[in-house]
Amino acid sequence: KLSNRITTLNGGGSNGWEIFEKARDMIAAGEPVTMLTIGEHDIGTSREILEAMHQAALGGHTGYAAIPGTPALRETVAKRVEARTGVPTTSKNVLIVPGGQSGLFASHFAAVNPGDRALHIDPYYATYPGTLRAVGAEPVAVPARAENGFQPTYEDIAAKAQGATSLLINSPNNPTGAVYSPETLAAISKACQDFDLWLISDEVYETQVWDGEHISPRSLPGMEERTIVVNSLSKSHAMTGSRIGWIVAPEAVISELTELVTNTNYGVTGFVQDAAQFALNQGDSLEKAVAAPFLRRRGIVQNLVENQNVAQLVPAQGAMYVMLDVRATGLSGKDFANGLLDEELIAVMPGESFGQAAAGHLRIALTVDDDRLEDAIVRLLAYAKARV
Ligand code: PLP
Repeated sequence: KLSNRITTLNGGGSNGWEIFEKARDMIAAGEPVTMLTIGEHDIGTSREILEAMHQAALGGHTGYAAIPGTPALRETVAKRVEARTGVPTTSKNVLIVPGGQSGLFASHFAAVNPGDRALHIDPYYATYPGTLRAVGAEPVAVPARAENGFQPTYEDIAAKAQGATSLLINSPNNPTGAVYSPETLAAISKACQDFDLWLISDEVYETQVWDGEHISPRSLPGMEERTIVVNSLSKSHAMTGSRIGWIVAPEAVISELTELVTNTNYGVTGFVQDAAQFALNQGDSLEKAVAAPFLRRRGIVQNLVENQNVAQLVPAQGAMYVMLDVRATGLSGKDFANGLLDEELIAVMPGESFGQAAAGHLRIALTVDDDRLEDAIVRLLAYAKARV
């Protein structure tokens, strides 16, 4: 008999990825599905990064690497974080992890006791509740309202915060594309201090901001000691398959987390760490090249959706997705997405996969070339019109 912990990871419901899995099976069966589901770039990891990885592997960096990360990569990350946020940061504040997802698990493992209430904002990245359950916490959704541009308010958080231990946020946000404003971040910071919460800040879309700017809440007054930042090179450098990221946190947290790594992953692949170090040392040139298509593609969707009354674009300031509100069709996001896949061979994610606040919406990953995206949106709008 398997443990309750593993059999209840998805909360007894779905894992949210059914449409993606169905579309993937259809593609494997030879059907020409346009895949606008998961956050996987249509470009691969750049040649320079792969060459750095290749050289590091051939150079012999194939044994166990230092458990908290190579000193050189930890130093590179610390310098980058300090330069971008102004918060003094050393290697001792940095732990290298195999991707942001693993960083989210480790951060909560450090911050939350089994049985504690762990808050996260809704709409949310589909794995969040499962990650919180994996550490034994009770996930508690804090709805952020569409009419506030999906920016949570102090009142939204305070309504759920009594007795909670942590708050997980994500800006730029997946799925909504919201980039939290200075006012939103001030409200989050006040709520964390008033209710004595750890703040876990998922910043994996940090480099993909179209409007406004990314501010890390670790840089706000009173927040450095209670913030654990999770980041990775998956989205910024199109390195999803390399599984490489980091946690930035107070030194004592990193020191305890090193114990967790010693007893779980035992570190991250050395030649991948060397490639990550190379990538981060290129300044922002590689990450700008990866981010550029998403802004252009947001514009394509914006132009096509403008002046339509069947689908409204949710204003988005970053990440690599846009959300369409299709409530005017009377269909749930799930029914719309299933019908669109069956009839038009276009795969998008239903908003319901990301929580209740996104019901009646679709999330569209901007991860195919411009022409294919345009064709898919034109057909999606025609499908919507035929239903009103
Ligand atoms: N956090 C968010 C908001 C994401 O969208 C994703 C991936 O899509 C992750 C974390 C996980 O990223 P990684 O590949 O670094 O594990």
